[in-house]
Amino acid sequence: LKSFQIAWRALGLKLTAPRRVILEALEGDRSHPSAEQVLARVRKRRPGISFTTVYATLEALVRHGLLSRVTADPSRARFDTVTAAHDHVVCDRCGTIRDVAAPRRSLRGPRGFRVSRVQVEFHGTCGACDGRD
Ligand SMILES: [Zn+2]
Repeated sequence: LKSFQIAWRALGLKLTAPRRVILEALEGDRSHPSAEQVLARVRKRRPGISFTTVYATLEALVRHGLLSRVTADPSRARFDTVTAAHDHVVCDRCGTIRDVAAPRRSLRGPRGFRVSRVQVEFHGTCGACDGRD
């Protein structure tokens, strides 16, 4: 069993065959896929799987802290398999989202507010889109 499947079971959730395929498709993924991209990948192995099943599974993973939702892309929800603290470099032309290490940051927020998480997004144009690569 892969780590997502182990974590899923540890939460006491049922590992159905479609869910197993979805979890396998996400394993080790660093591309911050959209639900549509996950669906396309999963359909190669299970053509009959519905968008609703994929989306509900992604939502459940987010709810249980196994996946995080990336808000960098305004056009669609994207999902992140790395839940440890890190920052994002976002190309606004091709939509690529890359992980970059986050520096140590103070979690001191405004007065009376308890900060639990800080994440920075660097928006711009990647080397490939700019013709620099
Ligand atoms: Zn990320």
